[in-house]
Amino acid sequence: MTRVKDRTTPTECAEHGGFPPISCPPCVARRSSPTGLAVAQAARSLVGIRYVIGGRSLRGVDCLGACVVARQMALVPGGFDGPYSDRLDGIDVIGEVMARGGRLDVESAGAGDVIGFSIGGSLRHFAVLLDDGHMLTATRGAGRAQIVKLDGRWASRAVVRIPAAVGDE
Ligand SMILES: [Zn+2]
Repeated sequence: MTRVKDRTTPTECAEHGGFPPISCPPCVARRSSPTGLAVAQAARSLVGIRYVIGGRSLRGVDCLGACVVARQMALVPGGFDGPYSDRLDGIDVIGEVMARGGRLDVESAGAGDVIGFSIGGSLRHFAVLLDDGHMLTATRGAGRAQIVKLDGRWASRAVVRIPAAVGDE
């Protein structure tokens, strides 16, 4: 497991309130690209898919699987029907996460970005940021992919951001 530093973040956007800066809807809208919005839309379509450890298909996903499947659905021209892998649009997601461990610029997070979360000091969870203060994620506990509020508790654990598109920093 990659060890990551805990971080502190405001629990509410100073300008809009309600959500932390990373997921504040008006702020995310301002920071989102068309590509990112397409990834977020694809992520929404994954709600209800069964949780499968290592799953990288529409038959089953884990947390990172939901992220890579959403990205491939949105970013591969003409749509994508698998096979899904961890490498997409030129980005090795896991490699990128490792390279960025412990760093996240919450002022830059936009819809469709993959956010990595620390649990117990290790990078253990991933989700796709949506444009309404929520995120698409798959958890063993829920048993399926679902949309969850990205609240202050989650924001304090957000440690990595992978942009929705190459060069889209
Ligand atoms: Zn805001």
